[in-house]
Amino acid sequence: MLDRIRIVLIGTSHPGNIGATARAMHNMGLSELALVAPRCEAVTSESISRASGADHLVHAARTVATLEEAVADCTWVVGASARSRTLPWPMITPRELGQSLPAELNQHKFNPPGHGGHEPRLALIFGREDSGLSNAELQRCHTHVHIPTNPDFSSLNLAAAVQLLAYECRLAALATQPMEPTDEARSEPLASHTELERYFEHLERTLIRIGFHDPALPRQLMARLRRFTLRARPERMELNILRGILTATEQCIHPQERKKP
Ligand code: SAH
Repeated sequence: MLDRIRIVLIGTSHPGNIGATARAMHNMGLSELALVAPRCEAVTSESISRASGADHLVHAARTVATLEEAVADCTWVVGASARSRTLPWPMITPRELGQSLPAELNQHKFNPPGHGGHEPRLALIFGREDSGLSNAELQRCHTHVHIPTNPDFSSLNLAAAVQLLAYECRLAALATQPMEPTDEARSEPLASHTELERYFEHLERTLIRIGFHDPALPRQLMARLRRFTLRARPERMELNILRGILTATEQCIHPQERKKP
């Protein structure tokens, strides 16, 4: 289970935090680290010293330019957030994160290998030391996780936040025998992040074309539709149906674009 959890750090500016994150991860048995547009060198004397023997994770960390690339193959994307934002989003506690892991990560039945299913995979996203995660980044997450801290002093050090969530994941992994999935209402592979993003792009394009959405006056429409869709945890097949509806809608407005039978 732990081998299907990726820690993603966005815009980190202190090498020491990258090293300390590697140490926290290795302590808890996590090994996949991705760095999105880091604002510092990952491999420095400080990061290696703070990794205290877990420097192989620093060396193996994958550096990418965008959040999209870091989570493209993930079926569950969870953003760690120190504070509440303008648009409330599904929010869980670190304990609930751990409790959800067996069902989220043992979904072989729904993602049968060889049937185009993704291996279920969790990305835990952490923000910048100075400004956390942006609203656009948070809106790419299925769920947010908040570590319940003193409301007057809520923001933990980045690596300390990684440590706490990694610990909950480890506790959950230790307590869990491989389980049969419990969600009997599912039969198809879950949609990946990339498939969801393609759907959102298609949806926004269509809503603009039919005059329902004005990007100059967004009124959080796309954010609300994202929240609604992500809450449903759609399967790939369900997104294909929705995209088919969007394509048919586009063809209604511009019938000349309709493919000849
Ligand atoms: N100053 C930033 C917080 C930066 S802390 C802000 O106000 O948003 C760096 C990162 O650690 C955060 O982006 C978040 O991913 C994580 N983090 C810190 N405190 C947290 C908390 N109480 N709960 C969940 N994540 C937290």
